Amino acid sequence: MKVDVALIHAPSVYDFRDRYLYATVISEVVPSLFVFDMMPYGFLTLATYLSRKGYKVGIFNLASKMLRDREFDVEKFLKDLEADVFGIDLHWLVHAHGALEIARILKEYHPDSKVVLGGLSSTFFRREIMTSYNSVDAVLLGDSTEVPFLKFLEEGPTRTPNVVWRDNGRIRENELSWIPDNLDEFIIDHGILVKNLMRCRDLSLGVPFCSFIEAPIAGIITVKGCSFNCVTCGGSKFTYSRFFRRDGLALKSPRAIADEVEGIANLSSMPIFFVGDLRYGDRVEEVSKLLKELDLENELIFEFFSPPPKRVLEQLRRTSHKVYLQISPESPLEEVRRAFGRPYGNERLEKMVRYVEELGFERLDLYFMMGLPRQTPDQAHLVASYFLKLREISNRVNAFVSPLAPFVDPGSRAFVNPEVHGYEILFRDLESYRRALTSYHWKYSLNYRTAWMDRQDVVSSSLTAYEELNRAKLEVGLIDERTYELAKRRVQLDREVLKYVEMGLPLDKMKESIEEVAIKLDAEVKKSLSLYPTRDLAQCIKNPLLRGVVSFLTR
Ligand code: SF4
Repeated sequence: MKVDVALIHAPSVYDFRDRYLYATVISEVVPSLFVFDMMPYGFLTLATYLSRKGYKVGIFNLASKMLRDREFDVEKFLKDLEADVFGIDLHWLVHAHGALEIARILKEYHPDSKVVLGGLSSTFFRREIMTSYNSVDAVLLGDSTEVPFLKFLEEGPTRTPNVVWRDNGRIRENELSWIPDNLDEFIIDHGILVKNLMRCRDLSLGVPFCSFIEAPIAGIITVKGCSFNCVTCGGSKFTYSRFFRRDGLALKSPRAIADEVEGIANLSSMPIFFVGDLRYGDRVEEVSKLLKELDLENELIFEFFSPPPKRVLEQLRRTSHKVYLQISPESPLEEVRRAFGRPYGNERLEKMVRYVEELGFERLDLYFMMGLPRQTPDQAHLVASYFLKLREISNRVNAFVSPLAPFVDPGSRAFVNPEVHGYEILFRDLESYRRALTSYHWKYSLNYRTAWMDRQDVVSSSLTAYEELNRAKLEVGLIDERTYELAKRRVQLDREVLKYVEMGLPLDKMKESIEEVAIKLDAEVKKSLSLYPTRDLAQCIKNPLLRGVVSFLTR
């Protein structure tokens, strides 16, 4: 296959199929499975932008394909794929191993094509990437790469902003100077994504994440940047300003948001997730009005960074027949939540839960985490008990818990000033991260310990919190016995793997269990735990012809 630009999403660890990697709960609160198969939304805006400028762009989700097809020959696929420029995302540091390995293979087979990395993690580590990994020709810097990527294609690196590249053995860098303050031009055209699926003729290779086929969800980026300063977040105000030269938010206007929603709704009835708190830029009223006018069949999901007032919830409730909400209190304890950087107490959160019940939202999802500042191992059981307390206010509440894993983000406040926030950062250079990702157990990939928990405490308390929360969900009828038992099996296997690793025993004996639980059951458990509303892709598609094609490709 030949394209102008091939955008490639790697699994977190390139050769995960040949290793006994088992990382149960670390991807629990995102649609990805344990190899982080979800590509960044930036890939989709980039593909849309470049396609509209006349370039033939292909998006290839290798992580998703490799999860679905154990026999898929990655090297052969990459050898046969031709492109002038190969773009690989290294946005989340969790892809450090896979992204660099794919870069190496591509360069080997296509020495005359350019191999380019992009995303916040590659921006942060750009110098090390350029000095240590010869297969990478350039890194496009910053939180947005649409305009620099186009310049790079049209005029080469010398005249491109936001780029570091190799020039006859010398490393050169053009300043990070293109920082958009408005996102209206950078939308996702879902029609282009459909074309991509047709081009791949393979659903698992063309989807944004592996389980998209069974549980599709569309996302709309409403903002870049953040006004909060959560201590471990690489997308915080502090990190953006200090490392990515973003001192203000980039917003998408209500009109552009509504147009993007309409584009999705014309194609499919899949749920739509709005990335970013719409209170930024005071857009709730206008967005709500425009969405209501669309009379949507799609379920909508909105996220909040702090509990909103009733007026905001009233407006959002009118946007669709089913509206879901998400918020991350991180801990049931106010002291811990505030130390992390979320400045609100339980009273405000509980008020939000009451409004959710009163206004008839479909569900409110709460996200909790282990590994936070001031958090001690004995706080693990509080997640389940607080969840049960909130269920007494409203049975529309659901909750999820995961470890802060595998990494405190590079460039975050806890990374830059660990001692101030009670953290110790164990790895500093990219190569250490790349290696840590291949650890047999996720305990050894954690890049931190805190003044209150070492790495073992983070693992133990995360598994306990997960187990207890599932027991509470079973108790209130949110999950069935089978899901509960499967989830329990994952935790048991996790503990067993860790025991073997600590004793220095080979994991061969566990190969089959790991493969069964990690690959086959993880998806089923996650779907049953209902991270978001589900319906399969073919059912969501409105055009009968397209629905037929997707059904055919799904078989
Ligand atoms: S975790 Fe905190 S700092 Fe990071 S994006 Fe969310 S609200 Fe902003």
